[in-house]
Amino acid sequence: MTRWLAEYAWLPDHAEPTPDVLIEAEAGRIAAVTPLVGGGAAPAGVEVLGDAVRLPGLTLPGLANAHSHAFHRALRGRTHGGRGDFWSWRDVMYDVAARLDPDSYLALARAAYAEMALAGITCVGEFHYLHHGPEGRPYADPNAMSAALVEAAAHAGIRLTLLDTAYLTASVDGAELVGTQRRFGDGDALRWVERVDAFRPENDHARRGAAIHSVRAVPAEQLATVAGWADRNGVPLHVHLSEQPAENDACRAVHGCTPTRLLADHGVLGPHTTAVHATHPTSADVALLGDSRTGVCLCPTTERDLADGIGPARRMAEAGSPVSLGSDSHAVVDLFEEARAVELDERLRTRRRGHFSAAELVTAATVAGHAALGWGDAGRLSAGDRADLVTVRLDSARTAGVPPVGAFFAATAADVTHVVVDGRTVVADGRHRTVDVPAELRDAIREVTS
Ligand SMILES: [Zn+2]
Repeated sequence: MTRWLAEYAWLPDHAEPTPDVLIEAEAGRIAAVTPLVGGGAAPAGVEVLGDAVRLPGLTLPGLANAHSHAFHRALRGRTHGGRGDFWSWRDVMYDVAARLDPDSYLALARAAYAEMALAGITCVGEFHYLHHGPEGRPYADPNAMSAALVEAAAHAGIRLTLLDTAYLTASVDGAELVGTQRRFGDGDALRWVERVDAFRPENDHARRGAAIHSVRAVPAEQLATVAGWADRNGVPLHVHLSEQPAENDACRAVHGCTPTRLLADHGVLGPHTTAVHATHPTSADVALLGDSRTGVCLCPTTERDLADGIGPARRMAEAGSPVSLGSDSHAVVDLFEEARAVELDERLRTRRRGHFSAAELVTAATVAGHAALGWGDAGRLSAGDRADLVTVRLDSARTAGVPPVGAFFAATAADVTHVVVDGRTVVADGRHRTVDVPAELRDAIREVTS
């Protein structure tokens, strides 16, 4: 049994943190969570042993990063200076993609995931589409890139859902993949199924999932093949949706409907599906997503960076879509920033304050994200759940004097001091226990950009 004594802990269904909480874990699971009411005095029957690790500050459940493209980490600071938009950014991204192979991807993803661990992220959803070698030639193991990502997450000490992405065409009207895009393609959805069926990560920390890159990249008549595979295997299905108005326009021109309508008509929406971004949905789209209980994963720092716009987060939540969060392009890896941006962007748009409570933002960053990635037993500090703990200091220059309930509006990833994943300590005193994160990021990025 491992014991921690949290100065404050954010317990499930609580509007604010609880002081003095004893958390006990065994075999990677939380065994008991006991508030020591009355300033540290144990209630009858609870013995606080001297071996309890004290966690000063606020302890949260594990944070889930529900949308990641690991290799985009190499682009940070390289695409921000000039003008341009999503599409010009994408050209630079393709240059990096063209350089990666399974070895360099392992090194880059390991460093990127270790940065996530430092930020309190205990689980990542990797929306993975860089499948094949140059010119689209499969590697000897057609899932070599997937295997590199699974191994990278193991080294970094976090869990991973590999959202294996079908990326078959270059545009809504079915144009062929060209240039670097050929590395993404399997030809058609049946061949995508054949490849993903053959991939079975055997480690406990990794699970499979599926993704449709977007309505640009999977022809309408093949959407159901991907959705059916996810359904048969009981795994999550993710899809980029209406990130750009141009995607809506192209879909209307070819199919006479919005991307959301197209997905709905082909059986893609539902409670196991997560729409990523959903920045430009119509009111009817919001209703389709909400009524089907399709989740939405917002990535505000990327949407900001790429000048995408601001999605109707509150309206989608009200309509019935669970909200999760992702760092997507990793311009920023900080789920505190993503979480508060959901509220702050709504304020900018509506010129009113108070759309999401602090507890709702915590839910988005923790239990909702884990659920979107197929880990229904993580993201809460409660007995039986996976023993993930993320402690945020309340004595840094940013957080000193901040009440614990306000931590999500003050803390940054740099304030995370202690991270436990499945009962194992991955970060202690703000340091990753096995990865020299800055050095590995520097070397891995140099390898694919110089
Ligand atoms: Zn994305």
